[in-house]
Amino acid sequence: MVTVKDDHVVSLDYVLRLENDQVIDQSSEGEPLEFLQGHSQIIPGLEEALYGMEVGEEKDVVVTPTDAYGEYDPEGFEVMPRGAFPDDMELQQGLRLLVRDQNTGRPFEVTVSEVREDNVVLDFNHPLAGQTLHFHVQIADLRPATEEELEHGHVHGPDTH
Ligand code: ZN
Repeated sequence: MVTVKDDHVVSLDYVLRLENDQVIDQSSEGEPLEFLQGHSQIIPGLEEALYGMEVGEEKDVVVTPTDAYGEYDPEGFEVMPRGAFPDDMELQQGLRLLVRDQNTGRPFEVTVSEVREDNVVLDFNHPLAGQTLHFHVQIADLRPATEEELEHGHVHGPDTH
């Protein structure tokens, strides 16, 4: 029996709820999430819980903030001058912006927390920071990754290479 292990492509049906039972994310019907197990493509707390599962098996997984999107950092805010943004950009509270880390060059999302006359407050916390996540998962499919997929570090579908 094939079970979830490293270097396997996992197709995962999932529903994600917050502590208050609100559903905030789920896979679409017949379109499970596909990823390479053991390659940190999903949050660590969920990946860890999948090892050894079989196709068809279901599980409830509770992931603490540390193993998900981190604790909420009350100091994770930065004030930027309004001039740092394009003139025609409609800045409003809650807007998500893609910015690039100045050191690593990696893109990440920030949230506009407040728009003032001359400046803008950005929240660098992930929207799910500080949240305990409740997943209900089911393994929809499972197969060993191809050598090419392992080389590329991602799953290949019918249209992706
Ligand atoms: Zn590829």
